[in-house]
Amino acid sequence: MTQAVPRLDGQVVLAVFAHPDDESLACGGTLATLAAAGAHVVVMCASHGERGSDIGPVRNDALGLERAVEMRAAVAALGIAELRLLSHPDGELRWAAVTDFNADILLFLRRHPHASVITFGEDGLYWHADHIGVYERVLTAVLSLGSEAPPLYFVTMPTGVMPEVVHAAKARGWLPPRKGFWSLVPESFGLHAKPHTITIDVRAFVPQKLAAILAHRSQMGADHPFSNLAEADARRWLGTEFFRRADIPGRPGTVLEQLCT
Ligand SMILES: [Zn+2]
Repeated sequence: MTQAVPRLDGQVVLAVFAHPDDESLACGGTLATLAAAGAHVVVMCASHGERGSDIGPVRNDALGLERAVEMRAAVAALGIAELRLLSHPDGELRWAAVTDFNADILLFLRRHPHASVITFGEDGLYWHADHIGVYERVLTAVLSLGSEAPPLYFVTMPTGVMPEVVHAAKARGWLPPRKGFWSLVPESFGLHAKPHTITIDVRAFVPQKLAAILAHRSQMGADHPFSNLAEADARRWLGTEFFRRADIPGRPGTVLEQLCT
């Protein structure tokens, strides 16, 4: 039995990520928890993921459109109020459209002066350049607000979590593909990341999180370890999410601390 979640009506939470599926994998349970508690959750996704993020260098606009449809389904599964799916170039987020993306974030924050922000940390979860680019843009925008900077939270993952997910999937017969995202060394998740300071129990929202992850169907083939997880393993490995509060001057706020276990 999980604890009662406080009501968060009137709170605005902006979650900024790079590709459709980042939001669900990184912190889908927390976003669903926030939404269910009454917060107005907005997911801003920098790109349509038209290069399949990690699969190859070829731009595929049909894939981008397909992923936009998947993204809307994932956001609906999580109960998220608003999606801002931007068209910055997948694979080039660290150096392309820097000014435009910065303006997108800043405009939102100026229009929602009481918002809190969730995004990647400096490690981009597993040193993905696009994720690091999102971290850089968000941090620049937030810091530019000085004493009015919103509370800023970075998603993180302790090392050891992803290797255990992969181990559990392998035990059920999953074989890592030879290339692409899941051929990555799972130990790279959380490697050299700063330790988390906030732990959130999202077990009550694992069904929604899993539905959102699986809504990204173009990315979740048989190659994906989450398609091979037993329900108990899914609850175990998807049921806790980790964050670090950025140590920056700005407005006080405790939207994620209130969900802390
Ligand atoms: Zn991504």
